[in-house]
Amino acid sequence: MLATVLHGPGDVRFEHVEEPRILLPTDAIIKLSASCICGSDLWPYRGLQPMNGPAHMGHEYCGIVVDVGSDVTTVKPGQFVVGSFCLSDNTCPHCQHGFQSSCVQREFMSGAQAPYARVPLADGTLVATPEVPPEDLIPSLLAVSDVLGTGWYAADAARVQPGSTVVVVGDGAVGLMGVLSAKQMGAGRIIAMSRHKHRQELALEYGATDIVTERGEAGVAQIKALTGGVGADSVLECVGTQESMRQALQSARPGAMVGYVGVPHGVEFDGQSLFFAQVGMLGGPAPVRRFLPHLMDLVLTRKINPGKVFDLAIPLADVAEGYRAMDERRAIKTLLRV
Ligand SMILES: [Zn+2]
Repeated sequence: MLATVLHGPGDVRFEHVEEPRILLPTDAIIKLSASCICGSDLWPYRGLQPMNGPAHMGHEYCGIVVDVGSDVTTVKPGQFVVGSFCLSDNTCPHCQHGFQSSCVQREFMSGAQAPYARVPLADGTLVATPEVPPEDLIPSLLAVSDVLGTGWYAADAARVQPGSTVVVVGDGAVGLMGVLSAKQMGAGRIIAMSRHKHRQELALEYGATDIVTERGEAGVAQIKALTGGVGADSVLECVGTQESMRQALQSARPGAMVGYVGVPHGVEFDGQSLFFAQVGMLGGPAPVRRFLPHLMDLVLTRKINPGKVFDLAIPLADVAEGYRAMDERRAIKTLLRV
């Protein structure tokens, strides 16, 4: 089959690879209904993350099960499934505590920017829908797999409550999903930090009540001005740079929680500042598996429309253009039609 392989910085190829097959009795093979490109795929694409040779890209997925290993009991061929980008057994102590992204058997999904993909640990990773969903819900179900699950985790980790004042740092796809999630959790005020008109509009549509365009000290000053000098109850850090982390910590009031889901690149903390900030932090790779049933239900009952975050949809064969469009910020997130 033809699939997506990253050979080096800026070098995405749609080329012949071996078709996935069952390697372990706990595997499933799925036929992708759609795939997409993640903001985190841009780190190696931009040469900012070391690579060990060519990489089969893609970790966000939904589709129809075509084959399962002999130990798989919870999904069967013909079912539509969504899975997390973190593969988990869903039985170990960390999974039982709801941190499937730290599963003792954890692996990271790969090879999903393709027509078919192998999903290890299928029983603990995949969730099936009662019936095959209508075509128009596919983008939103695909979003659940990572970008929405991650935005939701940011809001959950930041302990967004009904009536909370929330700041969302980052207007990429995850930040926008963080806005949607905070809204679903009943936040009273959602301040989105964004400098891009198109993204501001989507943030407002997803439930943002205020937009702050300033960054750095000026951005913090704006947050303080909007919150009567207090700071936010919950802050969602959805970027992963030193500047965004500083922004997040300084926007939080004493006693607040920061949910940080942007993969840190070059982020360092100063012990004294952390000590006196009196802010809690919880983050890391999102345990999407914990949220899958709830989020899939919200999509299937059409209560949320996270699929709108895909503002470019192109055939899988044009995947290289999809990477370019996101790299050049012409697209928030690219959906790949399989
Ligand atoms: Zn586990």
